[in-house]
Amino acid sequence: MQCSVQWPQKLSEPQSLSERFPDEWEPLLAELQEPRYRSVQIFRWIHKRGLFNSAEMTDLPLSLREELLKRGLSAPTAIVGRRISSDKTRKLLLEMNDRRRVETVLIPHTSSPQSELFSLSQEDELDGNDSRDSRRVTQCLSCQVGCAMGCRFCASGKVGLIRQMTAAEIVSQISAAQGELKETERISAIVLMGIGEPLHNYGAISRALLLLSHPDGQAMSLRRMTVSTCGLVPEIDRLAKDFGGEVQLAVSIHSADDAVRSDLMPINRKYPVREVVEAMRRYPTGTHERITVEYTLIRRINDSENDARRLVKLLRGVPVKVNLIPMNPIECTQLEAPPEAAVDAFYNHLRGAGMMVFLRRPRGDDIAAACGQLALGGELRRNLA
Ligand code: SAH
Repeated sequence: MQCSVQWPQKLSEPQSLSERFPDEWEPLLAELQEPRYRSVQIFRWIHKRGLFNSAEMTDLPLSLREELLKRGLSAPTAIVGRRISSDKTRKLLLEMNDRRRVETVLIPHTSSPQSELFSLSQEDELDGNDSRDSRRVTQCLSCQVGCAMGCRFCASGKVGLIRQMTAAEIVSQISAAQGELKETERISAIVLMGIGEPLHNYGAISRALLLLSHPDGQAMSLRRMTVSTCGLVPEIDRLAKDFGGEVQLAVSIHSADDAVRSDLMPINRKYPVREVVEAMRRYPTGTHERITVEYTLIRRINDSENDARRLVKLLRGVPVKVNLIPMNPIECTQLEAPPEAAVDAFYNHLRGAGMMVFLRRPRGDDIAAACGQLALGGELRRNLA
């Protein structure tokens, strides 16, 4: 497949050794009088095998291994906690070098299409015929410690933005998780739907996506990577320009009404919902691809028949699939999911209007791993205490 990715115009400077691309290793290798091909060797150790300890990089000369250690090459994250849900969703608590913590979630695919985070049809097409031997796992990644967006229904932002994550920290969530997989499992897709607003950390996430797609690294197709945003319009356009629509876009809409949406999501005051939808129209999706619309259903806030009607009108003519997510409970808010009948009525209205719509059952809600429940491993409680 021809890749139409344009290298992002101004790819941010690498923040650490472990997030360098092979060509970014070359000046250092020249300084150390090492041949150029070492750049690919080092890159493969880190990004293909997920190994950061240079002492174990057996095809490098000892002097270079020592130099890398001296210059601080080390794993950006370490697993400090694990929880497994009754539905097999797994949540990992990761600690970074400054002891800040974030969570990542592993979601094994099941045979029920209703419980998928994404419709698998697209993935099956991408996958060929090996799906019977190996179990595919979608990994939900965090991209910030906390979040600045302040959406009322989301636990992740309750502490505000503590700091950005680096590209190395973002991709190392995958190497950390790979050690946890069963032999038959593999990570087949990633979604930036964990803690944080990916488009508010554009430099790091764009580098992370490119690192993951690098042929000497995970070589994961950009089409298996989803960026979920609350609607930062200029950055949606930037993502479109830099990645030519190869990266899947998901947009959290939650209401077609500006007053309701602004109340739920302060970012709507800056980028009203119609502007967000215009950016979605501009986003270059392939002929068979759709932009995901996320709609968290909240009792008495955005769950009426009228809300459904307005959503249909708002999205008319935009190639979307709608994921309806009944609100997952979080601490410190009265907001809750509508009764089942209201959820069904909303779903049926969209279906009746000819929309592609999926009702998402919560995955991992018994271990607080469902949408909007991810927190900072105690940090939330500490900060609110
Ligand atoms: N910042 C990104 C990704 C974060 S969360 C974004 O806004 O899209 C991924 C999805 O979970 C978003 O659609 C978010 O709105 C939704 N979400 C947040 N809290 C939730 C909750 N308590 N219940 C259900 N969905 C929630």
